[in-house]
Amino acid sequence: MIRPILTHPDPILREISIPVPAVTEATLALLDDMLETMYQAEGRGLAAVQIGVLQRVAVVDTDWKQGERNPLFFVNPTITWSSETMTAREEGCLSIPNQPRTVKRPERVKVSYLDRNGVDRVTELDGMLAMVIQHEIDHLDGVLILDHVTPSQPDPIT
Ligand SMILES: [Zn+2]
Repeated sequence: MIRPILTHPDPILREISIPVPAVTEATLALLDDMLETMYQAEGRGLAAVQIGVLQRVAVVDTDWKQGERNPLFFVNPTITWSSETMTAREEGCLSIPNQPRTVKRPERVKVSYLDRNGVDRVTELDGMLAMVIQHEIDHLDGVLILDHVTPSQPDPIT
């Protein structure tokens, strides 16, 4: 089921989401709704808070715009390691339509999470996948791309 996506400045987007105690039928239904909503909105990632559900759940698919769907499901994702190498990329956000921002983030991260089957996993991500999962974990902590200082535009010296 496609759900409405909350947009900034909806105060719910600033809430901190709560860990999911276990992957249940309700979690799977939520993940399916989130994926359908993300594809319909033409996004590459969606956090549950963006449809008003304050659970630490995110869906990501960085491949589908190239023609092949490859959805990833993250329950309780946590970054356990970040590379020192940083990369600045332009990011869009379904909750802040048509206002992309350049955000500088670690190029590679390790993420621990539960998958759809409730199995503990650790994965190392780089490139766009690393960017998207960091963006979604920001959402789970009430952080938006607006909060990141644009590295290419330092404060002018006055
Ligand atoms: Zn977003």
